[in-house]
Amino acid sequence: MSIKEEIIKIKNSIPSNVKLVAVSKTKPIEDIMEAYKAGQRDFGENKVQELLEKEISLPKDINWHLIGKLQTNKVKYIVGKVCLIHSLSSIKLLDTIEKEYSKKNLTANTLIQINIGREDSKNGIFIEELDELIDAIERSKHCKVKGIMTIIPKGSDEENRYYFKEVKKIYDNLKERKFKNISMEILSMGMSNDYKIAIEEGANLIRIGQGIFGKRVLGGNNNG
Ligand SMILES: *Cc1c(COP(=O)(O)O)cnc(C)c1O
Repeated sequence: MSIKEEIIKIKNSIPSNVKLVAVSKTKPIEDIMEAYKAGQRDFGENKVQELLEKEISLPKDINWHLIGKLQTNKVKYIVGKVCLIHSLSSIKLLDTIEKEYSKKNLTANTLIQINIGREDSKNGIFIEELDELIDAIERSKHCKVKGIMTIIPKGSDEENRYYFKEVKKIYDNLKERKFKNISMEILSMGMSNDYKIAIEEGANLIRIGQGIFGKRVLGGNNNG
């Protein structure tokens, strides 16, 4: 199937309240344009450099999502260029976002990334680190949190469902408690192989790469 057909198929199979982010990492401009022509406007990249190179040569009405680990020294380059940072995962990063966005008097929209499987290889905070990060976010002036993002460990459907449920519990809990600068609107979970289960468990943003663009040959990693 073509990129266009894959996008149409996925869009027709998901509820209308679920946002599809097409993960275009390692894929060329032509592939992104094909998706764009099929109506796709939200794209995800995991590397700052690659995102910027694509952003500059593609239509300005694309919403860019930064889905990979964000190094503090790269924050300054993305100010005003991305609609959502999915990988807020430390107070140090929050402080840098605060500093760089305040310089341009802009506000960053972010998701807290939770490392639900407690994997060394993955970015994100552990649940017990959440309260401290929330305290810092409440004091922030240029950073808003719009929800939660997670990348679950590789596993069976049952294991996937378990982790998605755990993250949904955290999301619901934060939604009930009211914090300054924090609203729970976006639950970003589910990729090509598990997005259907993620949606069943409450995801309203899914990030799909290979399921749209085909296999990544150039060593794109899934570890965000
Ligand atoms: C690569 C990546 C995806 C997409 O993975 P696929 O298996 O290609 O759908 C989703 N989220 C993050 C954070 C990624 O790095």
